[in-house]
Amino acid sequence: MALRGRVEIKSPDQLRVMRKAGLLTGQALEAVRAAVKPGVTTLELDAIAEDTIRSGGGIPSFKGYSHPPFPATICASVNDEIVHGIPNDRVLVEGDIVSIDCGAIVEGWHGDSAITVPVGGDAAIGDDVRELLRVTEESLWAGIAALRLGGRVTDVSAAVEAHIQGQAHPTGGTWGILQDFTGHGIGTELHMAPDVPNYGRPGRGPKVERGLALAIEPMVTFGSHRWKTYDDEWTIASQDGSWAAHFEHTVAMTAAGAWVLTAIDGGEAKLAELGVPFGGLA
Ligand code: MG
Ligand code: MG
Repeated sequence: MALRGRVEIKSPDQLRVMRKAGLLTGQALEAVRAAVKPGVTTLELDAIAEDTIRSGGGIPSFKGYSHPPFPATICASVNDEIVHGIPNDRVLVEGDIVSIDCGAIVEGWHGDSAITVPVGGDAAIGDDVRELLRVTEESLWAGIAALRLGGRVTDVSAAVEAHIQGQAHPTGGTWGILQDFTGHGIGTELHMAPDVPNYGRPGRGPKVERGLALAIEPMVTFGSHRWKTYDDEWTIASQDGSWAAHFEHTVAMTAAGAWVLTAIDGGEAKLAELGVPFGGLA
């Protein structure tokens, strides 16, 4: 596990620029969320995200990334697809869930964030699926709330896992926490040291200090954590067909606390609710 390696520490001025990238990423996701409804295709959602990012002065982070080059602005992963789905002409139907992952670059700095959205609204999905979404999103915030100056990166990992395992599974089974995909450092590149696993013991990895920026991103299935890759070499889906959720934020540490760069309000409201110091800079 690559918990070692050089960690990029940002100055307050650099974090202010990174906030622009984070905010634009968050705005693109909100535009996509508003457009998710029965009858829309994931390719149409991709165009909305790209328009939002480019008209805001940013560049999509994912387009052309890695090998084979990722062809789109968003990853769109439907139902049993977990992450890295390639947008296509699939028409979303009421009761589907779609995970949208998006990244933007502004002045060389990256933002990275993801949401899982019910197609047709909360009432369109069953109680079990609603629980999957709630547990996954809450585990992201539990991980963010575990970030404390002087702590360690895997404090986040342990908090995410503890939150998920502490939530009753609707059918008495166990939640599947993906182990082979993790959160990550972020800044002048999309993926940097350190890895941020969604499970494991606290108190390990690099120190949580001012200027650290992490993308925290629990990926949870309703069943097994085992996954498979489609022939497109990108899309990751559950092996057992169980549905999956993915929530992600890019979070930076300042002298005051955590600043959720990809949340529209910087995370201020949610952190207050959780009793955690808000680290947003003016
Ligand atoms: Mg992402
Ligand atoms: Mg990420």
